[in-house]
Amino acid sequence: MADNSSKPTYSVGVDLGGTKILAGVFDSNYECLARIKTSTKPDRGPEGVIERITRCVRDVVDESDLSMNQIRGVGIGAPGAVDIEEGRVIFAPNLSWKDVPLKKLLEKELNLPVFLENDCKLNTLGVFDAELKSKPRHMIGLFLGTGIGAGIVIDGKLYRGFNGAAGEVGHMVIDINGPECGCGNRGCFEALASRRAIFRTIQSAVKQGQDTVLIDMLGKELTDMRSGDIRKALRRGDKFVAKVIDQAAEYTGIAVGNLINLFNPQVIVIGGGVIEQLEHEMLPIIEKVAKAHALSGTAKGIEIMATRLGDDAGITGGAVLVQRGTK
Ligand SMILES: [Zn+2]
Repeated sequence: MADNSSKPTYSVGVDLGGTKILAGVFDSNYECLARIKTSTKPDRGPEGVIERITRCVRDVVDESDLSMNQIRGVGIGAPGAVDIEEGRVIFAPNLSWKDVPLKKLLEKELNLPVFLENDCKLNTLGVFDAELKSKPRHMIGLFLGTGIGAGIVIDGKLYRGFNGAAGEVGHMVIDINGPECGCGNRGCFEALASRRAIFRTIQSAVKQGQDTVLIDMLGKELTDMRSGDIRKALRRGDKFVAKVIDQAAEYTGIAVGNLINLFNPQVIVIGGGVIEQLEHEMLPIIEKVAKAHALSGTAKGIEIMATRLGDDAGITGGAVLVQRGTK
C-alpha cells in the first residue's frame, strides 16, 4: 500500500550527558526499537563528542534494521543552557562547552533535521507526550540526578520563561544556612538532595568516623559509589544511610511543596537516577512532606509519581521533539 505521507515515521532521540551518550530509535507511537549507550569522553572537546554522537546515531539506526533515509529527524538533549532557535549549547559545565552550534554541526554530519533542547525539559516532554499521552493540562517533571532540574508544562506547552531558563529548580534555596552550591549560593535544593549532595554527605560522615555497610561494599574511600549501592545499603538495614536518604527525601518534599504552591500542577512526575533506584524509600516521604508544605487544600487530587520511562525519558523526549518539530 502506498504511503500518502512522504515523511519518514521513525525518529532518533539522543540524551547527551557528561559521562554517557544514550541514543534510541522510536516509531510514531514512541515504541523504542533499539537503544545504544556509549561514553561521552568530554575531554576530547566538542568535535570529538560530536563524532561520538554521530556514530551512536548511525549505529542505533543500523541496530533497528532501518536506514538513515527512514529517519525523520534527531532530537537531542544537552545538559545545560541552550538556545533552541539557534540550536546552540550556550553553556554546559559537565561537558566544558561554551557556545557550541550543536544543531548545525550534527545536521552537517547526519544530513537530517536536528532539534536541540535542555536535558530536563526534554525528559519532561518525553514523560508528558509518551507516558502521560499529553493528558494533564499542567505538569511538572522533576529530575534528581547528579544535579537537579525540571521542566514545566503549562496548558500543554513547555514553559521556557523570558530567557529560556525556566525550570532551574535545583537552585531554589531551601536552607539559607545550608551547604554551598556549585552556583555560589547556599542551601540550594541541588546542594541538599542531588546524588552529588547525598554522596558528599555520606563521604564526609565516613571521613569523620561514621560506620556504614558501604565501607564493606566499596572500601573506606567509597570509590565509584552509585545510587544502586545506596539502595543495597538500605536493603541491608544501614540506619545511617537510611537517615541520609530520609533527609534528602524531606528536602525534595519541601521543594515539591513549593512547586505546588507556585504552579498548582495536576501531576508532578519525578525521575532521574536517584529516584529510579530509591523510589520505594523516597516517594512516600516526598509525597507526605510536599502535601504538608502546600497551602491547605491546594494539593487535593494532585498526583506525585515516579516516571516509568527511567533512563529512557531523555531519548523518548528526543523522539517527541522530532515529532513536535516536524508536524
Ligand atoms: Zn545553586
